Amino acid sequence: MERIYLDYAATTPLDERVLAAMMPYLTSEFGNPSSLHRFGQTARAAVQTARRQVATVLNVDAKDIVFTGGGTEADNLAVLGYLRASCPSGGHIVTTAVEHAAVLQTFKALAEKGYDLTILPVGADGRVAPDSVRQALRDDTVLISVMAANNETGMIQPIEEIGTIAHEAGIVFHVDAVQGFGWFPLHPLARHIDLLSVAAHKIYGPKGCGAIYIRRGLELQPDMYGGPQERHLRAGTENVAALVGFGKACELLVAEGEKRVRHAYALKALFYKELIADSNAYCLNGTLENSVPHIINFSIAHKDRAVVLIAADRKGLALSAGSACESGAAQPSHVLTAMGLSGEELYGSVRLSLGKDTTEADIRKAVEIIRTIAGEEPNHG
Ligand SMILES: *Cc1c(COP(=O)(O)O)cnc(C)c1O
Repeated sequence: MERIYLDYAATTPLDERVLAAMMPYLTSEFGNPSSLHRFGQTARAAVQTARRQVATVLNVDAKDIVFTGGGTEADNLAVLGYLRASCPSGGHIVTTAVEHAAVLQTFKALAEKGYDLTILPVGADGRVAPDSVRQALRDDTVLISVMAANNETGMIQPIEEIGTIAHEAGIVFHVDAVQGFGWFPLHPLARHIDLLSVAAHKIYGPKGCGAIYIRRGLELQPDMYGGPQERHLRAGTENVAALVGFGKACELLVAEGEKRVRHAYALKALFYKELIADSNAYCLNGTLENSVPHIINFSIAHKDRAVVLIAADRKGLALSAGSACESGAAQPSHVLTAMGLSGEELYGSVRLSLGKDTTEADIRKAVEIIRTIAGEEPNHG
């Protein structure tokens, strides 16, 4: 059976050109970047090239990029590292109800340690109103964290407006851009972003590799102690091959990003038109406007998503319940709950996410499979 993978928001396959770039650093070029001999210097140069490639996508200086072991670690180090350095004894922190667990759980842990936490609501479209951010601010607010694009619904947050509000108030602004990365411009300098997290495996790079952009002059404190790697912020010998792969994935993103966006938009529009637009058996969660081109979240009437996902997988179609991290859990999505969904809509929600290699035939086949599962077939029981 030919399998169709439509879960690119959970992770993407390694691009073969990325693997080719990584191979030497897994074999002959195995040096430690901290070593002074030729082996070490070759590895060090490769890490610096990767840093420049990541910086280029974000339109920032390579000096302002710190590598991490993934998106979750980038979110944790950005948020906790900043608070440890600047306001270790507490303060008011602000985030949204629809953040990825990597941010939401971090903020909840901070609340338990004594920070005052405001979790902003979202509208039915899954977006935060910039005004609600403004109204939440207090004299002791020290940090605002809002994601660029939601991993379950694809909804894009008004990052530029929130950045301006944070900047005017002199409050540090962190953006979890792991899902938005590559789908729309996220230049931290133009958007008053102080800290921004990205990960390689959502853009055809290797897993366990990410980065933080840190605005010049902003102090962070590490949570691991050891060697001076990554400006003392992430001690330990670099995962050179993974960083090289991340860099190569960013280079490909620069070259092919616009094409990927156009391709995904066309396929998303096709899927919407074929399955959802004229049917009352399905409803779109979120909106087509203000969303990334590769994610579409919808509910199937009278169906439990667990049943749908298993039936789809049996027919060779890989879909998701929303967040890969929560798909094992029976709990309903915190994102869709925050958007006001309840009952059947909530339990029947499915996420489909597209990639650069998804074809029109994949989409047509997916529509057919979903229709069958939803019981649109005349002979269903
Ligand atoms: C995938 C994802 C993360 C976590 O990144 P990992 O590299 O898997 O740790 C964080 N935030 C968002 C929005 C994501 O989509």
